[in-house]
Amino acid sequence: MNIIFLGAPGAGKGTQAENASRRYGIPALSTGVILRDAIKNGTDMGKAADSYVSAGKLVPDDIVINIIRERLTQEDCANGFILDGFPRTVPQAEALEAMNVRIDAVINIEVGDDNIVSRMSGRRSCPSCGATYHIEYKPSADTVHCDNCKAELNMRHDDKPEVVLSRLKTYHEQTAPLIGYYSSRAKLKTVIGQIKVEDTTALTFRALDEFDLPEAKN
Ligand code: AMP
Repeated sequence: MNIIFLGAPGAGKGTQAENASRRYGIPALSTGVILRDAIKNGTDMGKAADSYVSAGKLVPDDIVINIIRERLTQEDCANGFILDGFPRTVPQAEALEAMNVRIDAVINIEVGDDNIVSRMSGRRSCPSCGATYHIEYKPSADTVHCDNCKAELNMRHDDKPEVVLSRLKTYHEQTAPLIGYYSSRAKLKTVIGQIKVEDTTALTFRALDEFDLPEAKN
């Protein structure tokens, strides 16, 4: 089963993609995490992507389409996968179709722009494994270190308010049209993001249950 999470930056799609990954036993693939790893490791792809990510702009389609094309051939995707942060443009969605990737469900997590800016200021992430937290809504056990790998959490450069505004503009111009794209294919359900993560999770699982998907494993 193949699922896409759509939503503005900071709407909570990464968290919900991870929840759904555990529920169905299939991997969550985040193009943002893959790009940040490539930037950290100084690969050619990372160097090509760096200036776009730091400015809150989208990395060119051909780069992210190649990332996904390659990632989907890996063995852990054999029973399905969850896409978090891809596609982000109509040409990216068309590229998925051209790869003959069947999409079973698209969950669009909706959060108003005002809430996004305040949510992002509390977001923290692990520089080592990429896990994400929120100082108020989803703190790590000791609020300072990653629960998985104990590295000290930090704020992503692109979560700073000035970059968030650019990311939101990009979202409305280039990604929001995907809501119509998948609605017209009768694949999309919208979940309104709640203050408490567990409330959004419950709504997300309910929306997923309305699709004809294989049974949850967890
Ligand atoms: P995210 O972690 O999903 O918020 O992504 C962080 C940044 O990575 C975005 O602001 C973009 O610069 C870049 N990025 C991630 N996914 C994509 C994509 N599908 N297309 C273009 N750029 C992307």
